Amino acid sequence: MEPDNSSYTILGAGRSGIAAAALLKKNGFKVFLSEENPEENLKYFRKDILTDDNIEYETGGHSDKIFENDVFIVSPGISPESEVIKKATALGKKIYSEIEIAFRFCKCPVIAITGTNGKTTTAVLTGDIFKNAGYDTKVCGNVGVAFSEIVGELKEDSIVVLEVSSYQLEYTEKFRPEVSVILNITPDHIDWHKSFKNYLNAKGKIRENQMQTDLSVINFDDKILREDLKSTDAENAYFSIYEDLKDSETKKGCMVAEGNIIYFDKNKNVNEVIMKTSEINIRGNHNLYNSLAAVISARAFNIKKEIIRDTLISFKGVEHRIEFVRELNGVKYYNDSKATNIDSMLVALETFDKNVILIIGGREKGNDYSLADKLISEKVKLVIALGETSKKITDYFSGKVKCMSAVTIEDAVRISFENGATGDTVLLSPACKSFDMFDSYEHRGTEYKKFVNKL
Ligand code: ADP
Repeated sequence: MEPDNSSYTILGAGRSGIAAAALLKKNGFKVFLSEENPEENLKYFRKDILTDDNIEYETGGHSDKIFENDVFIVSPGISPESEVIKKATALGKKIYSEIEIAFRFCKCPVIAITGTNGKTTTAVLTGDIFKNAGYDTKVCGNVGVAFSEIVGELKEDSIVVLEVSSYQLEYTEKFRPEVSVILNITPDHIDWHKSFKNYLNAKGKIRENQMQTDLSVINFDDKILREDLKSTDAENAYFSIYEDLKDSETKKGCMVAEGNIIYFDKNKNVNEVIMKTSEINIRGNHNLYNSLAAVISARAFNIKKEIIRDTLISFKGVEHRIEFVRELNGVKYYNDSKATNIDSMLVALETFDKNVILIIGGREKGNDYSLADKLISEKVKLVIALGETSKKITDYFSGKVKCMSAVTIEDAVRISFENGATGDTVLLSPACKSFDMFDSYEHRGTEYKKFVNKL
C-alpha cells in the first residue's frame, strides 16, 4: 500500500522527520520540511540528505508555507496543543506520525512493541531471536534507526521489529502490525496526552486496525491492559508470571510454572517448555516479562524453541539498562543510566539482593523518594547523591541510610570504589534525567563506564 497522491509537510528535522521527507521525495511526492529551531541548535541535522535529495526545507521557525500541503507528518516532540497542530487541525489537514507513512511503503510483516517501560529491550531481544532464526530482520523505531530509513530495503520475507511510543501511535490511521505487543502501562507522558485514558487509548491504537489473522500480545498481570483496552479483531495472546493461564480461558500465551517458561496454543494442541527462567541472562522480573513477550512473537512465526532459548541465554541486554560493567576486588559495577525516574530505579533495585552502593541524582521534577524507602532500607548500604538534586536526596535519606555527596560522576565512582567491599554491588541508577550535567542518559552512562574502567 502506498500513500495516496497527497502533498506532505514534515514538522521537525530530527532523524525520523528527515527520513520521512527523503522517503516521500524519493517516491515522487511533494514535500516540505519545516523546523522550529535554528540549525545550530539541532543535534541531528542531516543537511546532506536534504540537499542530495533536493528537499525543500526551512529552519528557525514555521512559515505559512507549511499549510500549502495536505498532510502533516509530526515529530513526537511536538505537542498536540501547539499552535501549528491546532491550526493544521482546524484547516482539516491530516496529521500522521512518521511510522504511519513508513508503514504504507512496507512490504513485510511488522512486529510492533509498545509499553511504558521495556520497549527497547524487548525490541532488541525479539530482533535477535529473528536474526538468529535466519530472518532478514530490521529493528527500528525509537531504537536509533527510523522506520522510514530502512523501509526501502525490505523484501517480502523480511521482518520489521518496531519500537513504538504512544506519541507515534496517537497519529496513526492505517498502521496495522501483524503482531502487536503491549508490555505494561503506568501513568507517564500525561502532559502530552492530557489524561491517562488518552494515553491508554493511544497505546491501544497499536491493535485497532489488526485483523483476525493478526496477533495482539498483552501482559495479563497488568490489570489495566487486561481489562480496560478497547477490544480488537486480532487473536489475543497473553503472558503472565503469576497466573496459570493454561487453566484459564486464554487460548494462546506464555507463562511461568515451576521455574519454567511455558508456551501454549490450545487451538494447535501445543504445550511446550521453552526453557528454565534461571537460564535467562538478563536480570529481574521485568526482563522476564520482556522475554515472555518475545517468546510469543517468535512462536507466532514458528521459530524453534531451541533458537529462542539460545538467544535468551546469550542476550546481554541493551546498553545503559542494568548493564554489567566490570568486577573489581569482588565488587560488581552496573550502569543503569537509562533509569530516569523513580519507577525504573526501583525496578533495578529489585533485581539485587543487598549491599548495594547506589549512585542517584540528576535533574527531576518532584520525585517522591519515599517510594524507595523500603527497598533502600533492605538493600542499600550507601547512597551517593549526584547533581542538581543531591541536596534534596541527602536531606531525605540522611538518618535512614549512610549518605555521601559527589560533585562529578568521576567523584561518585571514586567514592563508590573507596567504600566498596567484596560482595557489594555499585549501581548507577539515577532516578533522574541527565541534563543537569550531561547531554543525554547515554552520555552519563558512557562517562560512568569510562571512570569505572579506569579504576
Ligand atoms: P523503554 O524503551 O520503554 O524506555 P527500556 O528497555 O529502555 O524501555 O528500559 C528502560 C528501563 O525500564 C530499564 O532500565 C528498566 O529499569 C525498566 N524496564 C525494562 N523493562 C521493563 C518492564 N517490562 N517493566 C518495567 N520496567 C522495565
